[in-house]
Amino acid sequence: MVGAGALWPPPAPAQARQAAAAPAAQDIVLVNGRIHTMDRTRRVVPQVLIRNGRFAAVGDRVPRRDARVIDLKGRTVIPGIVDAHDHIVLVGNRPGWHVLAEDVFTVPDAVARYQAKAASVPAGEFITTIGPMAAMQFREQRLPTLAELDAVNRPVYINAAQGGVRTNSLGKAWLEKQGVTVAADGAIAPNATGATAALKLLREQFLTPESRKRSAFEAMTYYAGLGITTHLDNGAFHSELPSGGVANENTYTMHQPFLALAADQRLPARLRFNYLHQDPPADPSLPTLAPRLRNSLPFFGNDWIRSGGIGEFTGGGVNGLRAIAAAGWRAEDHTLNLASFQSLVESREKVHAEIPLTTLRWVISHVPQTTPELVNRFKAIGGGLLVGWGPLRTGSGVGPAYRTLFDNGIPLGYHSDGGDITVISPWLNFYTMITGKNLKGDVVNAGQTLTRAETLWLATAANKWFIEEDDLGSIEVGNHADLAVLDRDYFTVPEDEITRIRSVLTVVGGRVAHMEDA
Ligand SMILES: [Zn+2]
Repeated sequence: MVGAGALWPPPAPAQARQAAAAPAAQDIVLVNGRIHTMDRTRRVVPQVLIRNGRFAAVGDRVPRRDARVIDLKGRTVIPGIVDAHDHIVLVGNRPGWHVLAEDVFTVPDAVARYQAKAASVPAGEFITTIGPMAAMQFREQRLPTLAELDAVNRPVYINAAQGGVRTNSLGKAWLEKQGVTVAADGAIAPNATGATAALKLLREQFLTPESRKRSAFEAMTYYAGLGITTHLDNGAFHSELPSGGVANENTYTMHQPFLALAADQRLPARLRFNYLHQDPPADPSLPTLAPRLRNSLPFFGNDWIRSGGIGEFTGGGVNGLRAIAAAGWRAEDHTLNLASFQSLVESREKVHAEIPLTTLRWVISHVPQTTPELVNRFKAIGGGLLVGWGPLRTGSGVGPAYRTLFDNGIPLGYHSDGGDITVISPWLNFYTMITGKNLKGDVVNAGQTLTRAETLWLATAANKWFIEEDDLGSIEVGNHADLAVLDRDYFTVPEDEITRIRSVLTVVGGRVAHMEDA
């Protein structure tokens, strides 16, 4: 029998214990910066005061008594970047020791990054990069070869966006033993006995709740290093069991590692997430969407992790849209061409005639092809468009029509859509929006570029509309203290250097999410 004393008081929840143990947060004052506030007047100020996770003063001279003072030495500061549509939850659930390298621009530098990672990887376990990497980012315009990856003393598996699956000799031996077909040069074909089988095996054998939590933390920390402080995740294709699809996950459990980090108060950035649904239009029962709308809550959570609406697919055709509107939820679908944009606008108009959408902030993302007439019709029913999604595209006039859409006045925001089919780095995306060139340097979107200030505005203040939060995305008194101190001046560096920009100090809610030796 246990004495009452052993049972009482009940153990405090982990969060309460941490809060009790943490000393009151010290005020932080940043001085001597070029702080681009992205407020309504686009004010640039030298100082901010951060208190209790929010900006308490912004201006030429802020109170600094008892504060920790950080001298920015003239560096450029921007509000924390908001990516209003990416697939960070997929990236946080990758199998193996997942390496992100969107800030690496040569094959030897990529190999060096894998070698550095290998030092902390147990023997027999895989180093992976699955999704956000592309041959086009490298000066060599190709992925590392088997021979180059053999300089890494762990099995390596690369599954690059826009094609290219690679392994090294250690990885080849492991995969072949399990029946995967690997070419002599380490290439793996994108088919059932190649890449699909390989990714399924890696997921089956290396994913654990702990590995997912580690990958989720490292992914969000990595992108904090590129200045992203808020992600709006747009889901995955649902697979109940480990799948071989790069864009597949169990959409009912994939948020768990992020929830676990939130419970530990260790989320390095804010996560917002939409629920992706794909019910067939022919099935009026809406087998997954109907229970979602009945049993889940939109915009539920806290400042660190919070649900959103339905997207980036709504499913169920017009029936699905009607159900979402009736529930009062936000909805988002993507479009890849003009025909689908037209059909998305028309189906929304049909629903709007029955249930007004005007205040629901429905979104259409990617929008490579649009017409002013269709954009105006979508604007008239309260819609907004997300753009970005471009650095790996090839061809000419590939869109989106950044200039035309920006000047139209429809709510317009920035998204990368990265994580499975493209990259997440805002700087790779900004480069394309500003220059009209893809990462190879080819002009793909002539005459439809934005200025640097316009581009940054889309990824910060303009995205308040898309995440439906007014207290981040700009450096203003009362807002969450989310900011990035850049390693070089985004506004004046040569265009080709935009891709190289990093954050030397990223602050999220007054907490340091990333810091480099400056
Ligand atoms: Zn997407």
